[in-house]
Amino acid sequence: MSQFSNNYSRRKFLITAGVSAASTIFLKGCLGNPPEPTSNAGSSPTATAVPVANISPEQAPEVTKIKLGFIPIVEAAPLIIAKEKGFFAKYGMSDVEISKQANWASARDNVTIGADGGGIDGGQWQMPMPHLITEGIITGGKKVPMYVLAQLNTNGNGVAISNTHQGKGIGLNIQGAAEYIRSFPSTSGRKFKAAYTFPNANQDFWIRYWLAAGGIDPDVDIDLIAVPPAETVQGMRNGTMDAFSTGDPWPYRIVSDNIGFMSCLTTEVWPYHPEEYLAIRADWVDKHPKATKALLKGIMEAQQWCDKPENRAELVTIVSGRNYFNIPKEVITPPFQGNYQMGDGKPPIQDFNKGPLYWKDPIGSVSYPYKSHDLWFLTESIRWGFHQGQIQDVAQAKAIVDKVNREDIWREAAQEAGFTADIPTSTSRGVEKFFDGITFDPQNPEAYLQSLTIKKV
Ligand code: CA
Repeated sequence: MSQFSNNYSRRKFLITAGVSAASTIFLKGCLGNPPEPTSNAGSSPTATAVPVANISPEQAPEVTKIKLGFIPIVEAAPLIIAKEKGFFAKYGMSDVEISKQANWASARDNVTIGADGGGIDGGQWQMPMPHLITEGIITGGKKVPMYVLAQLNTNGNGVAISNTHQGKGIGLNIQGAAEYIRSFPSTSGRKFKAAYTFPNANQDFWIRYWLAAGGIDPDVDIDLIAVPPAETVQGMRNGTMDAFSTGDPWPYRIVSDNIGFMSCLTTEVWPYHPEEYLAIRADWVDKHPKATKALLKGIMEAQQWCDKPENRAELVTIVSGRNYFNIPKEVITPPFQGNYQMGDGKPPIQDFNKGPLYWKDPIGSVSYPYKSHDLWFLTESIRWGFHQGQIQDVAQAKAIVDKVNREDIWREAAQEAGFTADIPTSTSRGVEKFFDGITFDPQNPEAYLQSLTIKKV
């Protein structure tokens, strides 16, 4: 078993054992010391608090605390950095709790309960989980209204392929390998098997888009299923799993651990695509509008910090720590430098802008939650017939986006914090272009759906 896998197991054990960062802060508070921004890191000696901002009375948050969930992957960096570098505290949110979630289903269940019931108020999400939770679609009918407030990151994901398929032409464009994949049952006695970690969200969308662009129908030609990451990696090692749609640090580990190769990075499929988001329960935001903006300001400043190449080494030190990713620094350093070994004879990718970005990318804002991106996720859900009877058409999708996406709050927070130069002028990033030449015009999602060959509608 690799060192990474060992650490992964150990991390899971720590979660199970209930090691609580909150209790450390509580004890320190009892001893008369204010909670320190670095107090629950245990492994970030370089982290230093930034000075507290002069907060005008009309911007002072109603509360200083909130509980936000995160999944230990690169997408979570702005939340961790805002906490550890003191950016939340700078804007008056001195008691933000960042709570590691065992998986996406746990995060969903915990936000449905809410922090008052022992769960979480919000946090990090794949898309369109906040919309689906709002509509009660993935919560057994229980509607828990949520607001999308910021995007956390772009890039940082990819599709890994088992080493058993080396030399078959399974790269970004798989048209030449489509027959090999499609004819798998006759050559191997089973369908080509691919996995993601949570259904009907980012990883599921990315691998479906990539497969369909190459002429593979993901619902007919292969088995595409939800499997936990550790189990998927084991399956790729022993030859029972063929492909894995995943996020960093896996795309880096896949090749270095000799598990497989990378067919593509998601940034190659859709440059600077929307990835994961900050969303919080609407009841919490409605009750605490100033605290919401204070949180956003902290996250925005953390995102700006994360994007400075000279801060990436410290970022790696902080996020790899015991309470966060709990993995060796070497595992996470290359993706944060934009370095990916692709394997299978493909040249490595070495481009800072191809790794995770948090505040800005070469074509727009990363942090600002463009409504046009929410609309793509719901349009793509219609494409694959994910929520038939619940999300039927583009008009309904737009209505859900208008209800859930609160880019207006992001704008106000950015304005108040003085980040005016980086506030987009439109709620749309404009026409999106995919690697296969397909375009998504947010003004006309129906034309996008019509232009696609493989779909359920
Ligand atoms: Ca992701």
